Amino acid sequence: MDVARLRQETPGTDHVFHFNNAGASLMPKVVSDSLQSYLEEESLYGGYETAEAHKADLEAFYDVTAQLINAKPSEIAFAENATLAWTRIFYSIPFQKGDVILTSRVEYASNYIAYLQLEKRIGLQIRVVPSNEHGEIDIQALEAAIDDKVKLISITHMPTNSGLVNPAEEVGRIAAKYNIPFLLDACQSIGQYPVDVQALKCDFLSATGRKYLRGPRGTGFLYVSEKYLNQIEPYTLDLHSARWTTKESYEVRPDARKFEVWECYFAGKVALSSAISYAREIGMDNIWERIMKLSAALRNKLSSISGIQVKDIGRIKSGIITFTVAGKSPNDIKDLLKKERINVSVIKPDNTLIDSQGRDLTPMVRASIHYYNTEEEIDHFCQKLENIVVQIS
Ligand SMILES: *Cc1c(COP(=O)(O)O)cnc(C)c1O
Repeated sequence: MDVARLRQETPGTDHVFHFNNAGASLMPKVVSDSLQSYLEEESLYGGYETAEAHKADLEAFYDVTAQLINAKPSEIAFAENATLAWTRIFYSIPFQKGDVILTSRVEYASNYIAYLQLEKRIGLQIRVVPSNEHGEIDIQALEAAIDDKVKLISITHMPTNSGLVNPAEEVGRIAAKYNIPFLLDACQSIGQYPVDVQALKCDFLSATGRKYLRGPRGTGFLYVSEKYLNQIEPYTLDLHSARWTTKESYEVRPDARKFEVWECYFAGKVALSSAISYAREIGMDNIWERIMKLSAALRNKLSSISGIQVKDIGRIKSGIITFTVAGKSPNDIKDLLKKERINVSVIKPDNTLIDSQGRDLTPMVRASIHYYNTEEEIDHFCQKLENIVVQIS
């Protein structure tokens, strides 16, 4: 990987030490250019007219996204973020009272809140599968939890903290074995890990654009497998997802775009395509390999600074590194690093409440690595952090 070139193509690397890629990555220049030029055209020629002129580019979004995850273009829907993508499919599944969903202990707050809402609204039952000694969903326990009532397996691939990579391929194997639909929150893994829906055997997948894909904010997508497309009608429809055929009837479109609505972030869609093409040119295997290498280096360095406790779990670890600093609140650490132009974020326990309660987690600093970060940046980061820790004690 030509990191020097990739950094040249990322103007933000001249301004900040960006360790907040799990929040929102720095866009490559081609991506921000494509966003800006689209918006410029809209302002000069009109939004509808620009969409017509870019018909092929807007259509290409489905092709490049499908290629990224090894799906078909007809299985892809654009969404403004991962939460919308996820809720569009989740709330459309025709659950009945007493149906069970299986999830893991690291489930993301927004997803779990939706489970709880359906528990309250229709009597859905939530079964949380235990984790193994590494903190991953326990595959044997998952299989043991399956019975006739289980209507969905829904897990987060990489939680927003702790570096964990859930063994999603193993989960998919179990889901397929029992013919249970499998919904994967790939929000943090997309753009970071070679996500392949065939290898994962997942039926539904939600993803965002601004995190590891390095796309603009306000973008994301949903994948719905062909197998389930004709079985699930979206819980809301409009004139894009369906056609009004007679005074008494409508016809829902057959492809995954039935999970979209007519109006969307057109500029974002074109720019997200460009971000996906950019990632594919670098190669997802290369990206994942470099992220694992750099993040292991950062974890090692952090662990050697006295007063710092790395809180990460899992056998294979992602680019998401979480830690605490003795005697200092994560918010203060974040602010002090900010003065050094180092970007990190703060993770609250209620982002992953079950895991946080189980491990007594307090708020943590999150430093998230991407392939364009460097060993020099990691050294610099640890140096500045060490200075801060020394000043405190
Ligand atoms: C960020 C995140 C989400 C939500 O994504 P949005 O694009 O903000 O809707 C969902 N799941 C996980 C694991 C996340 O980290």
